[in-house]
Amino acid sequence: MPDIINILPDSVANQIAAGEVVDRPASAVKELLENALDAGATKIQLIVKDAGRTLIQVIDNGCGMSDSDARLCFERHATSKIHKADDLFAIHTMGFRGEALASIAAIAQVELRSKMHDNDLGTQVIIEGSDIKSQSSCSCPNGTSIAVKNLFYNVPARRNFLKKDSIELSHIEEIFKRVALINYTIDYTFYHNGKLLYDLHGGNFAERIAQMYGQNYRERLYPVDESTDVVNVHGYVSKPEYARKSRGEQYLFVNHRFIKHPALNAAVEKAYTDLIPDHYYPSYFLHLEVDPSRIDINIHPTKTEVKFIDESALFTILRAATKRALGQFGLATELEFNPIQEVDFPPAPKGYVPKQPQVHYNPAYNPFKSTSKDGDFGRTKGSQWTSFFDLKEANNEPAATTHEERQTLIPQAETAQPGTSVQPCLQLMGSYIVSTMPSGLLVIDQQAAHERVVYDRLMSTEGKAVAQQLLFPVNCQFSPADADIFSELIPDLEKQGFVIGTIGQTTFVVSATPAEIKDSELQSLFDQILTEYKGTMMQKFSDRRQCLCRSMARQMAVKAGTPLEQAEMQQLVADLFCCPVPHVSPSGKKTMAIIPPNKLIV
Ligand code: ADP
Ligand code: MG
Repeated sequence: MPDIINILPDSVANQIAAGEVVDRPASAVKELLENALDAGATKIQLIVKDAGRTLIQVIDNGCGMSDSDARLCFERHATSKIHKADDLFAIHTMGFRGEALASIAAIAQVELRSKMHDNDLGTQVIIEGSDIKSQSSCSCPNGTSIAVKNLFYNVPARRNFLKKDSIELSHIEEIFKRVALINYTIDYTFYHNGKLLYDLHGGNFAERIAQMYGQNYRERLYPVDESTDVVNVHGYVSKPEYARKSRGEQYLFVNHRFIKHPALNAAVEKAYTDLIPDHYYPSYFLHLEVDPSRIDINIHPTKTEVKFIDESALFTILRAATKRALGQFGLATELEFNPIQEVDFPPAPKGYVPKQPQVHYNPAYNPFKSTSKDGDFGRTKGSQWTSFFDLKEANNEPAATTHEERQTLIPQAETAQPGTSVQPCLQLMGSYIVSTMPSGLLVIDQQAAHERVVYDRLMSTEGKAVAQQLLFPVNCQFSPADADIFSELIPDLEKQGFVIGTIGQTTFVVSATPAEIKDSELQSLFDQILTEYKGTMMQKFSDRRQCLCRSMARQMAVKAGTPLEQAEMQQLVADLFCCPVPHVSPSGKKTMAIIPPNKLIV
């Protein structure tokens, strides 16, 4: 039998290895930005065309390369950053594996120009698919420019996996933020298709955050500063009231490197226990400085995952540092934020005779005959609800919207019996509504239930939503890439009752909203919509609308922990049973449980 094993040519081996390092334009951006930092640059330009498909160029004013280094840097395992295995545990640079440029050159057409500061002339190298096409002297500024053209030109399979430009650009933007946030002393510019997206000037960490997210953003943050033998923690965490329903800006850096570390991320979130509702997440920008010999960053090709020797100590310190920041800046934690799940009943005083609790309700109240005067049956706040659910009014005056009229808006579920009144309700733990039905005890999760009610209404009122003019228009600001995506969503938002104009490239002015949206919540509503939109990459029109309505419903729904009046609870129960699918919320959470009498005591 003939021998069948061959050694793969370098170009093929490089292409295979490239798959690990460069899976989309954003990863090439990461490697080039990191190389510029390692070269000691103080000014870095990123120029991208077509979301990185046709061009990614990074220009730095760093140390530059000699003629032979400019050629050698494209070889696999070519690095100036380590010499022996031991060096792996004293890493002060972003790169050290010596494979990024080799990988990029294997799957693109690359043009490098570089000049060391002491030289008069620089050098230019052109390489395509690992093949050096030319090298010549050239005059160029001090530092290095690397232009990566037509990424994956020779790997169609990978090219086909790329997502649409707005998504690829948002990945690039995310990488750019991770690098630029923590390297805050460096000047950065970032152009996409000739448009300047970021122009950042060197400063401190807080200034960089403000440059990136807008000056107002500072008000959302508390500083964190903690020095210990194991680690120094410095940075910012969001005030609990700015927690969001999606994980937004959560940035953890170790020695100027963005990392993902579920346990450490959890440590920060743990510090917010009891301060924010379940499924809300804080934002944070935290920099840990650790002795390089105590970490291993070589466990993942793109080096976002790291291993710490002192992981459990780090966990404790990080949680404590965050807690201290939250406590120190004006939060009386335990007192104000008792967790509702753990209600402690103090022992009754001696001789105390308990009184039977009274439930006040109007037995003649029929939620199907009456609803709010303007047909608006889903308000956000308890206090606002009261006027809409005034029992006396519902009883004495004929309701503006009759049951029949309402059926055209929301089809009635089989379970709802027109003409029968909803049983009296009790609210438990500020979050659950308990009532009875012929089939048993009904327990309703008020937040999930209200989400369902609001969602169905939003879906059924598309295009007919009433916009309410704001007295003071509200400005909302996004990062440049998010602003592009947000522009795509404006027509859909306008169908839901928003009126949105643009000022500049990244600021939008909202002059009208649907009646129930609070203007103070607009930015967080839009942030959430954008996160969901990007997360699911929805392209079909109907999906996009569902996504919008889901986010709006979540924002508008009455929250767990909000006390409700008797009439509000009854209205909610009645509205819920008018929904075609009352038993789950639009995000798939169960809204209710019915406990049959024979299961009550078993
Ligand atoms: P690594 O960064 O892991 O060493 P790379 O493939 O990214 O590997 O780069 C290879 C080498 O090329 C680096 O070690 C460095 O010496 C040189 N190099 C790459 N980019 C630059 C740059 N922008 N300025 C100066 N030298 C660079
Ligand atoms: Mg590198």
